[in-house]
Amino acid sequence: MNPAGRQVAGEVCNDCLVGFGVERIRQDFPALQVRVHGKPLVYLDNAATSQKPQVVIDRITRYYLSENSNIHRGVHFLSDLATQAYESTRDRVRQFLNAAHDREIIFTRGTTEGINLVAHSFGRSRVRAGDEIVISAMEHHSNIVPWQILCEEKGATLRVIPVNDAGELLLEEYERLLCDRTRLVAVTYVSNALGTVNPIKPMIATAHRRGIPVLVDGAQAAPHLAVDVQELDCDFYAFSGHKLCGPTGIGILYGKADLLESMPPYQGGGDMISAVTFEKTIYNSLPYKFEAGTPHIAGVIGLGAALEYVQRIGLPRIAAYEADLLAYGTELLSAIPGLRIIGTAREKASVLSFVLDGIHAHDVGTILDHEGIAIRAGHHCAMPVMKRFGVSATARASLAFYNTREELEALAKGLHKVIEVFA
Ligand code: PLP
Repeated sequence: MNPAGRQVAGEVCNDCLVGFGVERIRQDFPALQVRVHGKPLVYLDNAATSQKPQVVIDRITRYYLSENSNIHRGVHFLSDLATQAYESTRDRVRQFLNAAHDREIIFTRGTTEGINLVAHSFGRSRVRAGDEIVISAMEHHSNIVPWQILCEEKGATLRVIPVNDAGELLLEEYERLLCDRTRLVAVTYVSNALGTVNPIKPMIATAHRRGIPVLVDGAQAAPHLAVDVQELDCDFYAFSGHKLCGPTGIGILYGKADLLESMPPYQGGGDMISAVTFEKTIYNSLPYKFEAGTPHIAGVIGLGAALEYVQRIGLPRIAAYEADLLAYGTELLSAIPGLRIIGTAREKASVLSFVLDGIHAHDVGTILDHEGIAIRAGHHCAMPVMKRFGVSATARASLAFYNTREELEALAKGLHKVIEVFA
C-alpha cells in the first residue's frame, strides 16, 4: 500500500483476490468468446486496446436507437436526454479521477489529442526560445512528438530523463534536468513498452518545488491503477477510453481549472463559443472552451458505461488481481530458454515485453496467432526506448482483469512451439 492506503501495482492483497470471479467477468465480454483459427481466443493485447463488455455495447446501441440527438443547443426531448447522458459522464469521470470540478474534465479523442491540446494551447502561449520541456526516455510517441513540434517552432529544447537497465527512471538525473528554463514536465505514469510504473507523485512534487507544471500521460495507468488527481497534484492528466473498456475515439484531458482558464482555445467552432461577431469572438467557459464542434456523443456515453462497469469491479481489486497475473506470467516467461524480458522494474503493471534469441518479434506474434494468442510485436510507438535497450522490436503480452493464469500458460506453451519451429 502507498501512504494514502491505495493499492499500487506489484502489491497483492489476498482479500482482493478472493471471489474475483474472473470466469463470470469473462462472460461479460462477447469478443472473449470468439475462436481464432479454431482455437479459443487468448487476448493479450490489452495495452493496445481492451475488449468491450456487453453493457458498453448495449449503452451505445441504446443511444443510437432511442436517444440520438445533438447536445446542448437543443430545446427538444431527445436533445435534453442526450445532453444529460453526456454531462453525467463528465461527472462520472470527475469522480473516477477525483477531480475537484466537472469543468476540469475535457472530452477529447484520446490521450494523443489531450497531449496535443496542451502542447498547442499551453505550449504555444507559454514556451519561448531557450525554454525547455522535460520528458522521459520511455515515452510513447504521442508524448514525444507534440513536444518536438512545439520545441522546433519555438526554438525550445527537449530534455530527456534517462532510464536504467531495468527500465526505471533515474530520478537524480531528473532533478538535475529541472531548471529555471523548464516550462513543463510531461511523463508517462505507466510505460506501454516496459510496464514500468513511474513514481509520479514524488516527481510531481519535485517539479512543483520549482514551480514547474506536470502533465501525466495516463493512457496505460487508467486501466490498471486507481488515480486521484488531487492527491497526485498533477496539472494535466490524459487518458483514452478504449484502453479502459470504452469505445475508440474518446478520451479525457483533466486540467487544473486555473491553468485551463488561463489557456487559449485549441480549436475554434461549435460549443467553444459564447458570442461571435466578425470583429471579436467571446469564448465559452470551461470545459466547453476546449470542446469545439459536435463531440463524439455516443463515445462519451459509452465511456460512462465503461467507467461504471470498471468501478463496479473496483480498480484496487483489478490492480491486485493483475499484479498476481503479472507475477505468474513473469515466472513462466523467465523459465523459457533464450527469452529476455525487456523491462524488469520493481514497480510494473500489465506489460510483459520480451525478445527471443534469434527470432524476430513479428515471427513470434505470427506463430502465436496460429495458436489463437493475440500479442503485439513491434516498437509499440516507443522507438527511443527500444533503441535504449538495443532492440528494434519486442513481443508484448499485456494483461487485463479478464485474463487468466491458464491463458498465460497457453502463452508459455505457444512460445515453446515458436522455439521448436526455429530450432
Ligand atoms: N501514451 C501511452 C503510454 C500509450 O500506451 C498510448 C497508446 O498506446 C498513447 C499514449 C496514445 O493513446 P491513443 O492512441 O489512445 O491516443
